[in-house]
Amino acid sequence: MLVDSYDRVVDYIRVSVTERCNFRCNYCMPEKPFSWVPKENLLSFEEMFEFLKVAMDEGVKKIRITGGEPLLRADLNQFIKMIYDYKPDVDLAMTTNAYLLKGCAQKLKDAGLQRLNVSIDSLKPEVAQKIAQKDVLATVLEGVEEALRVGLKVKVNMVPMKGINSDEIIDLLEYCKERGMTIRFIEYMENRHADEKIEGLKSDELLSIIAQKYSFKDEGFDGHSPSHYYILENGYEFGIIEPYEDDFCKQCNRIRLTAEGHLIPCLYFDEAMSIAEFVKRGDIKGAALVLKEVVKNKPEKNRWGGEDDEVSTRAFYETGG
Ligand code: SAM
Repeated sequence: MLVDSYDRVVDYIRVSVTERCNFRCNYCMPEKPFSWVPKENLLSFEEMFEFLKVAMDEGVKKIRITGGEPLLRADLNQFIKMIYDYKPDVDLAMTTNAYLLKGCAQKLKDAGLQRLNVSIDSLKPEVAQKIAQKDVLATVLEGVEEALRVGLKVKVNMVPMKGINSDEIIDLLEYCKERGMTIRFIEYMENRHADEKIEGLKSDELLSIIAQKYSFKDEGFDGHSPSHYYILENGYEFGIIEPYEDDFCKQCNRIRLTAEGHLIPCLYFDEAMSIAEFVKRGDIKGAALVLKEVVKNKPEKNRWGGEDDEVSTRAFYETGG
């Protein structure tokens, strides 16, 4: 079992399989980076899998595939199948923008994927286009319908931004409610890569917009999720993620692996250690030691919310958000 210095059991890994993305969202990657990580520096799926086997043997029960845009990486369903075949009871999920989902949702499900988190920031084609800098909405929504049809569980993430999509909070909530999908509003996290003019909505602003139409009760946190949940009178649950708080750190059970093999103990923390050289030369024991070290050094709380640390230097497309 992987236990950190604050007695938290780490049983969840988020794996970013690529930093590349087919969207240029204003809050994440508005411009193509100066250079991508060279292909030879990326871990192959076999190398990632060798590492994940160690992690699963050590008690990891949940794996989320993310990116960049994970569906850009060829043979993703084979990677999912490798993990599923090794531990069929592992909770296998993916975060995606859903642009490439149509036509492959069934294959992903057959490979062993159970759940999807899809980013939908607007239901207006021109607003979605402004955010992603590409005409994406119709294709994304078709992908979502297909995922629901094949029986994948879907949650939706939305980043509400003032003057951009802040008038669509209720519309997106109702779109999700009608389809039995939970929506989570993620407070915009400032970072050096984003469009600097963005101003995100804070949770109190989101709640007061929702309160104009619905009454709801505070449900608090659910298990290990950083999402604070609320329930409408009709029983529909929605969540808000407030990254600048640290009240979810006590329950944190996760670490992150980047496509290059950096193991990151906390999204809001710059330290990382690499497993790349170990897995590339087949030294699985060496990789296992790095895993233990990273878990041991997991910080008690995220570093945001302090006076100097409000803007992250890290790109969310590298860490998987
Ligand atoms: N391409 C996939 C997607 O669009 O969901 C996965 C990667 S994306 C980095 C993962 C999540 O991070 C998305 O839900 C996105 O909304 C969120 N995200 C990225 N940058 C963010 C920011 N600056 N503030 C809040 N959430 C952010």
